[in-house]
Amino acid sequence: MRPAINLITELERERERVEVESETMDHSSSFEGFLAKKPYKPPSWASHLYPIPSHVFSLAHFPTPIHKWSLPHLPNNTQVWLKRDDLSGMQLSGNKVRKLEFLLADALAQGADCVITIGGIQSNHCRATAVASKYLNLDCYLILRTSKVLADKDPGLTGNLLVERLVGAHIDLVSKEEYAKIGSLALTSLLKEKLINEGRKPYVIPVGGSNSLGTWGYIEAIREIEQQLQTGNSKAGFDDIVVACGSGGTIAGLAIGSRLSNLKANVHAFSVCDDPDYFHDYVQGLVDGLQGGVSSRDIVDIQNAKGIGYAMNTTEELKFVKEIAEATGVILDPVYSGKAAYGMMKDMSENPKKWEGRKVLFIHTGGLLGLFDKTDQMGSLVGNWCKMDIRDSIPRKDGTGKMF
Ligand SMILES: *Cc1c(COP(=O)(O)O)cnc(C)c1O
Repeated sequence: MRPAINLITELERERERVEVESETMDHSSSFEGFLAKKPYKPPSWASHLYPIPSHVFSLAHFPTPIHKWSLPHLPNNTQVWLKRDDLSGMQLSGNKVRKLEFLLADALAQGADCVITIGGIQSNHCRATAVASKYLNLDCYLILRTSKVLADKDPGLTGNLLVERLVGAHIDLVSKEEYAKIGSLALTSLLKEKLINEGRKPYVIPVGGSNSLGTWGYIEAIREIEQQLQTGNSKAGFDDIVVACGSGGTIAGLAIGSRLSNLKANVHAFSVCDDPDYFHDYVQGLVDGLQGGVSSRDIVDIQNAKGIGYAMNTTEELKFVKEIAEATGVILDPVYSGKAAYGMMKDMSENPKKWEGRKVLFIHTGGLLGLFDKTDQMGSLVGNWCKMDIRDSIPRKDGTGKMF
């Protein structure tokens, strides 16, 4: 008797699961396929990679715009263009959503009911994961790294934390020392075990979403850039791609994509933590995980732009962010794109011959919310305010609503 009853409950559960799935994955549940799950077909030049994801979930506004970026003091005939991945969506802004389109499709395929991920206290990846999880009706558990003195205090609502807490992500704080000692893998496993014991089905996403599956996000971005070049008025491609590097997945996708496609742009990464050797090894692992058959050192050039430390800024770097915002209207985040653009401009002024006559695509990877964590340090750099000068004798006028 018992096995039969078990079988029936199993079948019922399976039917329920399928029903829930078809509700969340109904292609007609949104216009233009937003928040819909689609079967994935890779670009022809990437079809030999393995494994190929079966599905992808549409989470962001793509294609993100590309426009010319009139940076001051460029070498002769150097053009810099900007790909605005910071405009991939307000709550989801930045590069992480490209990886999440693949990672969360996998989470649903595996029948997960919640997502676990980990990062720094102002992690853009954790914020994007928190939002995307809720779009897909999944619970989200974040492990955030902070200083020892803050690890048992309310983390506050600055920047990314406000968004994470508004969408109801569960936040576990760990100290930098605990993180360094135990490591992100063991920490996420610990939380995973706990949730499994509570009857949950967690799906773990590694730091920055940087595993081989997440790498497809920026392989797809290369296809997007190629398509934009075909339809845009500038048929000539790009000679170079410049981007920030924090956990390695973005440069892995860009580098292998650029190499395999017709784009063939040189990819230059500016790392904001660890060091270039570490990232070459990490990227090699990601590329090997796709049976890419290429060497990291052949497909990407990595320079150190860490400065005084991850998520720490010199006044010089923040001044640069302010200058670029004022000169071009583009706001760089201080932790990633700000440091990468600063590193690129420094390299351009030290080695102008290397960049002269080249057409460069800088990828703005987002992170605007992180800037709110720097307001104390930025205060002295902005200025530009005063009390409006109003004489007592100015009479009141009522608006008529007419323009003239
Ligand atoms: C995470 C992040 C990066 C780095 O991307 P990785 O794939 O982790 O190397 C760059 N910019 C921003 C704003 C990020 O949040």
